[in-house]
Amino acid sequence: MSYNVTLIPGDGIGPEISDAARRVIDAAGVDIRWEEVEAGEAVISRYGTPLPDYVLESIRRNGVALKGPLTTPVGKGFRSVNVTLRQELNLFANVRPARNLPGIESRYKNVDLIVVRENTEDLYAGIEHRVGRDAAESIKIITREASERIVRYAFDLAVKQGRKKVTAVHKANIMKLTDGLFLECARRVARDYPDIEFEDMIVDAMCMKLVQTPEKYDVLVLPNLYGDIVSDLCAGLVGGLGVAPGANIGEGAAVFEPVHGSAPKHAGLNRVNPLAIILSGVMMLQHLGEDGAAGRIMKAVAAVLEEGRNLTYDLGGSSSTSEMAGAIIARL
Ligand code: NAD
Repeated sequence: MSYNVTLIPGDGIGPEISDAARRVIDAAGVDIRWEEVEAGEAVISRYGTPLPDYVLESIRRNGVALKGPLTTPVGKGFRSVNVTLRQELNLFANVRPARNLPGIESRYKNVDLIVVRENTEDLYAGIEHRVGRDAAESIKIITREASERIVRYAFDLAVKQGRKKVTAVHKANIMKLTDGLFLECARRVARDYPDIEFEDMIVDAMCMKLVQTPEKYDVLVLPNLYGDIVSDLCAGLVGGLGVAPGANIGEGAAVFEPVHGSAPKHAGLNRVNPLAIILSGVMMLQHLGEDGAAGRIMKAVAAVLEEGRNLTYDLGGSSSTSEMAGAIIARL
């Protein structure tokens, strides 16, 4: 099989880690024709927008993309390209696994959970306005359709991967209508999956439990904002943002990208960890049905981690991004 895959290198550390991932995936022996497209602040002067139509068209045509991080200005400027991309392509499920990797030091053992984050609504709808000079208001949108769809996705994933439990995370004690609707939908969908254990938990308690006994959790399903925050927490349980992959899945397209952002202070230094995007590439290969190549990359990654000689700074080593990728390629 050969595949056309859209590659968005991103900005900040994006280009260096995307290049590493592309080389590793090519070395795994999959026939991919990469269609490289640029987005973000760098293209605004040419196209008048950070997300030109050709980016969306490429992903729609190919159905699959690998994406580096894109910077969003804080508190001003254009709207997040990452969020707009997910909304435009209706990539409703953000899937972020957190599991211990061989050779990576962590305070926790036996962590193997998946965060399933709703990706299209909640406070991320971006509907906010100033109320006079001294107040501002943001609108939290939760719908039955999106809530049932994400919870069903989480249960289906649990069934597919032979997992035992789904935990719905919310704050329905305070946001009785919005989070209350999400919880009502979760309970309703859970009834269709009698073989999978279901529980719900308030998000603050969930954070405490995750740092005490993360091994007890299996699949977490959350509205957009809690999912964003809790997935970084989960990345921290297993080695940090440098090793946390992710996928944005919709009906017609899927975009695979690391959980981390563009880490501007490290940009151009060839020093950050390429694993988060390489592991996002592994998720992409599994999505394409290329389990053999995905398995080969995982074996090569495990060997490099266990050997411990070619690790980036965040994993206690002093190797560069390209050296670590090179070591994985040598194993392949
Ligand atoms: P960040 O994830 O970019 O970086 C936070 C810190 O985590 C870094 O300073 C670094 O110490 C560490 N880190 C991140 N990636 C690493 C890697 N691969 N290897 C080693 N260490 C790594 O978060 P931020 O600084 O809050 O955000 C920077 C920009 O990225 C912002 O503009 C934000 O909007 C954007 N962002 C984009 C995405 C995306 O493209 N999907 C996701 C998150 C943040």
